[in-house]
Amino acid sequence: MDYLKGLNDAQYDAVTTLEGPLMVLAGAGSGKTRVLTMRIAHLITNLVDPFNILALTFTNKAAKEMKERIAKVVGESEAKSLWMGTFHSVFARILRAEAHYLGFPSNFTIYDSQDSLNVIKKVMKELNIDSDLYKPKKVQARISTYKNNLITVKAYFNNPELIEADERTNMKHIGIIYQKYVEQCYRNGAMDFDDLLLKTNELLTRFPEVLAKYQDRFRYILVDEYQDTNHSQYLIVKALASKFENICVVGDDAQSIYSFRGANIYNILNFKKDYPDAKTVSLEQNYRSTQNIVNAANVVISKNVQQFKKNVFSDNEEGEKLKVYRALSDADEANFVAGNIWELHHSQQRKFTDFAILYRTNSQTRAFEDALRRKNIPYRVYGGLSFYQRKEVKDLIAYLRLLVNENDSEALFRVINYPARGIGETTQNKLIVFADSQNISVSQVLNNLGFYAPQLGLNNGILTKLSDFWSMIKAFQILLKTENVYQVAMEVAKRSGLIKFLKDDQTPEGISRVENVQELMNSMQGFIEEQHQLEEGDPSLSNFLENIALSADTQKDKEDDGTDKVSLMTIHLSKGLEFPVVHLVGLEENLFPSFMSSSTREELEEERRLFYVALTRAEKQAFFTYAVSRFQWGKITDAEPSRFLSEVDAEYLEFINPAVESRFVNHSGLKSNIFDDAPIEARSFRKLDPKKKIERTDSEPKIRKNLKPVSTARIINPSGESSQDIEVGDK
Ligand code: ATP
Ligand code: MG
Repeated sequence: MDYLKGLNDAQYDAVTTLEGPLMVLAGAGSGKTRVLTMRIAHLITNLVDPFNILALTFTNKAAKEMKERIAKVVGESEAKSLWMGTFHSVFARILRAEAHYLGFPSNFTIYDSQDSLNVIKKVMKELNIDSDLYKPKKVQARISTYKNNLITVKAYFNNPELIEADERTNMKHIGIIYQKYVEQCYRNGAMDFDDLLLKTNELLTRFPEVLAKYQDRFRYILVDEYQDTNHSQYLIVKALASKFENICVVGDDAQSIYSFRGANIYNILNFKKDYPDAKTVSLEQNYRSTQNIVNAANVVISKNVQQFKKNVFSDNEEGEKLKVYRALSDADEANFVAGNIWELHHSQQRKFTDFAILYRTNSQTRAFEDALRRKNIPYRVYGGLSFYQRKEVKDLIAYLRLLVNENDSEALFRVINYPARGIGETTQNKLIVFADSQNISVSQVLNNLGFYAPQLGLNNGILTKLSDFWSMIKAFQILLKTENVYQVAMEVAKRSGLIKFLKDDQTPEGISRVENVQELMNSMQGFIEEQHQLEEGDPSLSNFLENIALSADTQKDKEDDGTDKVSLMTIHLSKGLEFPVVHLVGLEENLFPSFMSSSTREELEEERRLFYVALTRAEKQAFFTYAVSRFQWGKITDAEPSRFLSEVDAEYLEFINPAVESRFVNHSGLKSNIFDDAPIEARSFRKLDPKKKIERTDSEPKIRKNLKPVSTARIINPSGESSQDIEVGDK
């Protein structure tokens, strides 16, 4: 059992405890995920049937990696039948098998957040609700919160407190929007992300025989990143585990960063209450990072009041100090980071995959992409607008969705007149109104067009167009019975006119759109091969669509083609990952911590946990950057360094700024302090010619080594309450 040899005592203890409830609560990089992986391998080695194991991970990518590692220990064929994946993907699979219990078709469509937002907007329009007063995104978030707390429409209307609370916040129409939204999804045969959990809960509580079936199947349940489970997920796990209580959860309360999506930190803190006999193991040694990184991260997180005190230490080398770069603008910041990566790539022979650029919000990506491109550094952006959310890709997918579930009216109206075939908005509206009046779906109208034609009030020309369109869809559906996903999609792309339409546009953007469609086809071939290798593989179109719907929000897999590229992602997405060199950028007040999340202590503590997550991704080196002015919301704004920078003890930091004089002349002749407010030269520059400033920052950044101490920098807390003096530059 070689795989047990590399474990420390505490890890060994956790891996070899196979029965009963077990919790591993430990800091970043201490081997929680490794323990989980090895524990599964150990279960299988001890003759537990992989069929009886369920492992829930935070991303599909993590599941895939774990599976590969387990396969190395127990062999490919054993690992094949393991159920491993995100909550959403595992429970979508169960819901498909059991959909009839809930009155849903087994080929239900999964709406990603964009789809569900579209439905909300339509519902609000129908209800004549002003979208300026009710921001659809806010409505969506509120509905999501209700669903994740298992508050159904019925439960909502039975709860005067909730109704009152919504009225108080001028959202008294939420209930009716929620109701209409749920009805519309049901009519479309669709579930949104939150439904995948809500409906699973419904399935397990309303149908004891279904619960018993899955309890018997999943005798061993393991959950990674347990601190970020929401109430709905918590209840599912609890229900499934209640028969055998072989439940192992691992997590770190200091890394709970999804409360905005309903994650409940108390799920992990109350584990002992739920399972009084639970064994708890804590892991203290961080194997990932240098001592400097671990110590700095510990200091910052210790500022949080609400936390479970943990000891985390590193036995690795002390390592370099954490470097801080103060940029004059966002473009300057991006140039520095790109230049730094280029320099380390050459001087330390680092691969590009060794580097990550982590930021608080997706909108920060562009500047880094520009700077990397200028230096010909290959990179990969994770998240953001994912491949599957690009318009041309979504259009083709909409056709495919319609083939699988013709009640999916979102998909139907996306393609009914795309490419244009003379079925305009007026016709579409007539169809919708008529279908509503008959309480049937639009596809039912189209299926019986001859019968309904006299009542529709459409002329013969239009009726012919509608009938042609629908016959085409029907023909594709027939094709689906005999041909594989790839062949069907190819036929759809050609016969619908989509490819021709895209090809007619010979601009670079147009060409890239055609390439994207081609790429989608390629991914289908990959999918077919992949499914053939799985024991319970399912190469159907509906499974393909499910896979992409579920990876759309954390789109990582598609871009992850294994080539040597720098990774760009939000901190949220970086959870669980590790990189030799991390650049944590945009460390400014109102950006990180975000201006939306610094009003209460709870919010601020969550931002601090985010900082902790970001820093603890780094193995060898961490770079912090901030800009004193930034182009945001269409204008240049001044920025102050983030309070989190001042929370890191000075002993772990090193400032690598060349003083600003190299490119920005400080007319006053004064050297500005590192943490001063916007420096004089930047300020005056802005007044003179803001455009010019951006152009000038495009020049090559200089990485200065062997900097002499240039001045004493003051770290000023944004509150202005305390400050400390530190030395700047190398010793
Ligand atoms: P996070 O909180 O960030 O999710 P984690 O606790 O899950 O971190 P892992 O990702 O499992 O930590 O492990 C961190 C790194 O340390 C990995 O590279 C892992 O291979 C390594 N590691 C863990 N335990 C040991 C060990 N006993 N010996 C050597 N390396 C180890
Ligand atoms: Mg982990």
